[in-house]
Amino acid sequence: MKTTSLDRWIWDKHGLDPMDRKAVARFQLEKIQGLFDEAKMHSKWYRALYQDFETPATWEDFKCLPTISERDLVERPHDFLCVNPKEISRIVTLETSGTTEAPKRVFFTQEDIHLTLDFFHHGMKIMCGAGDRALILFPAKTPDSVGALLSTALTRLGLTVLASTVEEAPALFSVHPFDLVCGPASWVVDAASLTKGMSVRSVLTSSELLDQSMRDRLKKWWGAEIFDHYGMTETGLGGAVECEAHQGMHIRENDLYFEIIGDKGELFVTTLTRRGMPFIRYRTGDRAVITTERCPCGSQIPRILSVRRQSS
Ligand SMILES: [Zn+2]
Repeated sequence: MKTTSLDRWIWDKHGLDPMDRKAVARFQLEKIQGLFDEAKMHSKWYRALYQDFETPATWEDFKCLPTISERDLVERPHDFLCVNPKEISRIVTLETSGTTEAPKRVFFTQEDIHLTLDFFHHGMKIMCGAGDRALILFPAKTPDSVGALLSTALTRLGLTVLASTVEEAPALFSVHPFDLVCGPASWVVDAASLTKGMSVRSVLTSSELLDQSMRDRLKKWWGAEIFDHYGMTETGLGGAVECEAHQGMHIRENDLYFEIIGDKGELFVTTLTRRGMPFIRYRTGDRAVITTERCPCGSQIPRILSVRRQSS
């Protein structure tokens, strides 16, 4: 079994060995300290939020920092900005959970987008390789959207990449088989139901919860090995991805710090490396379990298990 390709990526990119948990914790705390200082200096929101707080010297200090929520983002998006608005190259507008709430907007610099592209490029290596054919069911027309970034990352890895809707998928399958199909979980299942009996080696699902019955159907109809991914716009689209052991999703821990807070197991995220609109202790609205136990694949990178929407 291969360890997740994230281990190698983190080692190559930062000279950081994910097996050395103390070194990873030091790396992450240093990133948080730099992030805190930048945010307090350049963002109106964080300047006000942290007026009584100093740069966290320890993890205990960090855990005392106030948390932030979707509502804060809806009400004052521009106050979160840490760069000149001219540096923002992509704005994602999203519906919020409440019916009467205004939409929320998340801002990215070109550098922020490149971080996600890098994660997709290296995270996808576990399930595909040069010469493979991939079908992307995520919307891919908008530049820098999940579908577009994934398509770029897979092309870099040497794959032939096509994007289509679920309805168009059967016609594409009839011309050429696909080694890899990527998309929101329910869309991938719908595409599989229209192309039963085709052979697909790997499937990447994201954006929606993937339950066991969906996994069973994908396995039965395509014979595929399924790799689920957890991420949201606020995490920079990418977040955590399954390895060959299929026992949870390994966290993109060089860019993100996830923590579970409270009895309900709420998942909060801190973006360690984003410049445009960083989040520090941001409530994702999901509940989850994180394990730091060594994965059967051999990796020590913590894994997110059993994600559920807050309302469920
Ligand atoms: Zn693993």
